[in-house]
Amino acid sequence: MFLRTYSDDITIFATDAIKIDADDRVLLGRLGIKIEDHSLEQLDFSAEQVTAHLEGGSKLRFDTVYPALGSDANDMLAQALDLKMGDGCCISVDQKQRTSRDGIYAAGDIVHALDQISVAMGHAAIAATTLHNDLREKDGLAKS
Ligand SMILES: Cc1cc2nc3c(=O)[nH]c(=O)nc-3n(C[C@H](O)[C@H](O)[C@H](O)COP(=O)(O)OP(=O)(O)OC[C@H]3O[C@@H](n4cnc5c(N)ncnc54)[C@H](O)[C@@H]3O)c2cc1C
Repeated sequence: MFLRTYSDDITIFATDAIKIDADDRVLLGRLGIKIEDHSLEQLDFSAEQVTAHLEGGSKLRFDTVYPALGSDANDMLAQALDLKMGDGCCISVDQKQRTSRDGIYAAGDIVHALDQISVAMGHAAIAATTLHNDLREKDGLAKS
């Protein structure tokens, strides 16, 4: 549906059997988004187009493909440290990137937020400043 903003000719296909429930199929159909139920076997790229080879031998041609890979959070360290977790295997932090354990700060995709580089860098800047100030406070010094 997000890609529909850029093109009125969208087809969804997948390497495995596609799992889209009936309600979502209706919604996608209303937007003119096609669902290809034959699974993808191979993609061929040329300068002009992408050819999708589907199970059963049929072919579809597209201007481009947009992969939706998904991601899994590697939260083993957070679990081992018994940090408080929030949505989707993400570490819960306060507004200064402090976790539930004193002296441990978290930044980036492992924190619940928009998963983008600029956000991760912003988190890291906040975490580093907080860490610095927390250490100064522990040493009885004013925050800088
Ligand atoms: C396919 C794809 C395309 C993307 N495109 C964009 C884009 O165009 N623009 C954009 O802004 N963002 C994009 N992103 C998102 C962006 O990559 C992430 O938001 C960003 O990398 C998050 O940085 P991070 O440091 O939190 O995590 P990561 O970059 O994932 O770094 C975490 C690091 O920690 C390591 N690690 C994990 N657990 C341990 C452990 N226990 N011990 C030691 N090391 C460990 C991992 O190996 C990894 O190197 C994309 C992501 C993907 C997957």
